[in-house]
Amino acid sequence: MSTLKRSKRNRLKEVAQKPCCFCKRLMLRPGSEEAENNPGLTCSEEHYVPKCRGGSNDAHNIKYSCYRCNQLKGALLPEIFEPFARIILTQYANVPMPLLRDALKQYIYSLAEIAVRNTTATKKAVLVTKLQIGEQIKGRGIDV
Ligand SMILES: [Zn+2]
Repeated sequence: MSTLKRSKRNRLKEVAQKPCCFCKRLMLRPGSEEAENNPGLTCSEEHYVPKCRGGSNDAHNIKYSCYRCNQLKGALLPEIFEPFARIILTQYANVPMPLLRDALKQYIYSLAEIAVRNTTATKKAVLVTKLQIGEQIKGRGIDV
């Protein structure tokens, strides 16, 4: 095992039994019997702001979340994911993952429906999306 992996394992041991940075449920130590019985609560390292959204590898952007939040959050910004995690995951912690993914999509659609009533926010979202897709097209070397 590499030194990097060993130190990550030690960091995860230290932060277990502390609250997940998103849902605030107490996390379990990876490899423990409790974690094997409840893998969704296993402590994992998380890029708080996702790398694809401009987040860095700096220590201030590395936080600890339960495995379930880590899997669900994907590339969402923490400000979007946190309210969902705190309310939905604490109440429906053991609901199967596909149902939680659908609920997360519904939550994001609801946010979009609220935002669309705010014309300025909608225009800004379209401009941000235009910039992002432009970067992705450029990054892949696609001619438009
Ligand atoms: Zn969590």
